[in-house]
Amino acid sequence: MTDWQKLDEPLTGGCQCGAVRYKVGVQPINVHLCHCRMCQKAVGGPFAVICPVLKTDFVVTRGEIGWFHSSAVARRGFCRDCGTPLIFD
Ligand SMILES: [Zn+2]
Ligand SMILES: [Zn+2]
Repeated sequence: MTDWQKLDEPLTGGCQCGAVRYKVGVQPINVHLCHCRMCQKAVGGPFAVICPVLKTDFVVTRGEIGWFHSSAVARRGFCRDCGTPLIFD
């Protein structure tokens, strides 16, 4: 069982155009670079930075995330306006 460390100040982020913003109230664990083919395609580069948190700790604070079902078991969230890759579910 993982102990998720609650943060005093939430981590925040968003897309390039600002249409989508989010916050996370816990410290991500097992932060890593993923070089798998699907992550390479999702970000258009050699790797994706993965910062795992529970879905219940991830809150969209502005706009709405668009979804692309990248496989039968995964979907990738992005900004519909500017195309920035945001999350992986
Ligand atoms: Zn955007
Ligand atoms: Zn990957």
